Amino acid sequence: MRRLTVLGTCGAWPQAGRAASGFLLEYDWFRLVLDLGYATLPRLLTYCEGGDIDAVVITHEHPDHCADLSALGRERYFSDDRRARVPLYCTPGVIGRVQAMEPSEDLLDVFSVYRLPGTHQVGPFQLDAVLLPHHVPHAGVRVTAPGLTVAYSGDAGPDAALAPLGACASLFVIGATLQGPPPDEDPRHLMSATEAGTWATRAGAQRLLLTHFWPDSDRARSVTEAQSTFAGEVIAADEGLIVPL
Ligand SMILES: [Zn+2]
Repeated sequence: MRRLTVLGTCGAWPQAGRAASGFLLEYDWFRLVLDLGYATLPRLLTYCEGGDIDAVVITHEHPDHCADLSALGRERYFSDDRRARVPLYCTPGVIGRVQAMEPSEDLLDVFSVYRLPGTHQVGPFQLDAVLLPHHVPHAGVRVTAPGLTVAYSGDAGPDAALAPLGACASLFVIGATLQGPPPDEDPRHLMSATEAGTWATRAGAQRLLLTHFWPDSDRARSVTEAQSTFAGEVIAADEGLIVPL
């Protein structure tokens, strides 16, 4: 079974009935979680009973990408059957940000931490992470296994590194928070839907999954804008959506 399940799609905060950023990537027997923003853990647990996952990747320390790492840590910490630590691949600020919520429990009791950016072997995947422009250190990630490449931009701004990150990816997941013409500012910390399409085209990606929508925004508009710059299939991420890979 090779598929990507969308746990959450909102940027900044989760609107009613939705969650912030999060994805579950399954490759045969291996379950890799990409980001765990607000309200994603209850959704993850519906797919992975007992929090039974193999590794977690967190792109950066903003809470719409890592808040429910706290909830997962507590699920691991307090559950009756203490299990092996979960490998956690993240930028340097993530652990401190989430640990600050805990009065006494130590996240390092339940997670084994590996630093991003960098390259790691994660189960069947090679994980390659590069820094992308954002308000805080932010890793864009590319996971590759035989017959499959999935890339994820997080909610970074546009950058030349996006083309190799998503090169020939089966699926390029891009945070496309903005609509209309991109703002005239430098540096840029977020992307528009049109830019998401442009970078998917430059990467030669097969499919584009738009995510990290501003709450209550018109997602159909984002798809239309991305289609103006990307000729392949454009999909709007939606909670519970399963993308076969
Ligand atoms: Zn962010």
